[in-house]
Amino acid sequence: MRVSERLEKIPPYLFAEIDRKIAEAKAKGADVISLGIGDPDTPTLAPVVEAMHKAIDNPANHDYPPYNGTAAFRKAACDWMKKRFDVELDADTEMLANIGSKEAIAHVFFAFVDKGDYTLIPDPGYPVYKNATIFAGGIPFSMPLLEENGYLPDFDKIPEDVAKKSKLMFLNYPNNPTGAVCDLEFLKKAVDFCKKYDILLCFDQAYCEMTYDGYVAPSVLQVDGGKDVALEFYSHSKSYNMTGWRVGWVCGNKDAVKALGTIKNNIDSGTFKAIQDAAIAAFNVDKAEIEKLNKMYQERRDAAEAGLRELGWDIKPSKATFYLWLPVPNGMTSEEFVTLMLEKANVVVPPGNGYGKYGEGYFRVALTKDVETIKKCIQRMKDAGIRYN
Ligand SMILES: *Cc1c(COP(=O)(O)O)cnc(C)c1O
Repeated sequence: MRVSERLEKIPPYLFAEIDRKIAEAKAKGADVISLGIGDPDTPTLAPVVEAMHKAIDNPANHDYPPYNGTAAFRKAACDWMKKRFDVELDADTEMLANIGSKEAIAHVFFAFVDKGDYTLIPDPGYPVYKNATIFAGGIPFSMPLLEENGYLPDFDKIPEDVAKKSKLMFLNYPNNPTGAVCDLEFLKKAVDFCKKYDILLCFDQAYCEMTYDGYVAPSVLQVDGGKDVALEFYSHSKSYNMTGWRVGWVCGNKDAVKALGTIKNNIDSGTFKAIQDAAIAAFNVDKAEIEKLNKMYQERRDAAEAGLRELGWDIKPSKATFYLWLPVPNGMTSEEFVTLMLEKANVVVPPGNGYGKYGEGYFRVALTKDVETIKKCIQRMKDAGIRYN
């Protein structure tokens, strides 16, 4: 059999070699600790699980859901957007349930990108932006996220001819993998740029609730005219420890919502209605519960950052996400450093170049283990003589 050309165009899986080495170390009996995966390690919030128990017993939840999400879920999502950002949305035309953000992110490229069209994507970035561009026949153009710019793209560096041929831009703040944040002023610039070139601005809000030290993440829809050009992608996964549940929403420009909805109608049939009921319970979770989770990540962040500082890394406290993005020691590649970490400290961290070529020279740490385990990792690095300088 012959697979499609589009599949052959997907870049090789950069973690494959590391996965092989992890399996090898584990087979030899090594006690490997992974700080690799961006998946919450504590359970889904209790009121959500409780709501699911009830929802699953309701026979009205057992048939096909409405394509765009249940009316109750869309209303609850609109109410949340109003309360959280003071953004007004129409539940019928500007709101769409998704089966987890990744699904909607991948599909939006099929709604907007034709063969030869450019997309503007952050590098380093969530790999789906690039690969879905390729699946749709488009050409991904990397916007470098550089440390000296606070990991924000410089729109002035995008060549005019590329901007003119671009159909869609993706931005993601709070950012995976860098942990960087942005302000409303930056989003205003993004809206202006996308208006000028008639580009759909897609804003990935996967981490908007995972913030620290008083930082509050903004929405593009808070910018005047944001709704003219933008779609936002939200997910219950990281905010409420619901990665396995597969639910979230997309909202913003009504023509874009309609276009994405048409692609989705022809591919999927929505999220199980019981899950949408449980997701409504998540919207109503006491704010203190979210703060408790953030406090937990903050304590882990503090432990990791203090330990890494002792080992020579110069780091400022991260304001958001459960990731730390750090340079590898001088003279090493990302790949060499993560191999050293695995072989000498039995600690797994992903190499920065797995998120794009501008990620070379960095590695990511996911704070998805408790403080004790994080301290153990630091001790292992110390014992193995792994330092930044
Ligand atoms: C985790 C993540 C998502 C998607 O999460 P879903 O579980 O598919 O909702 C989207 N974008 C980024 C940047 C992420 O890290």
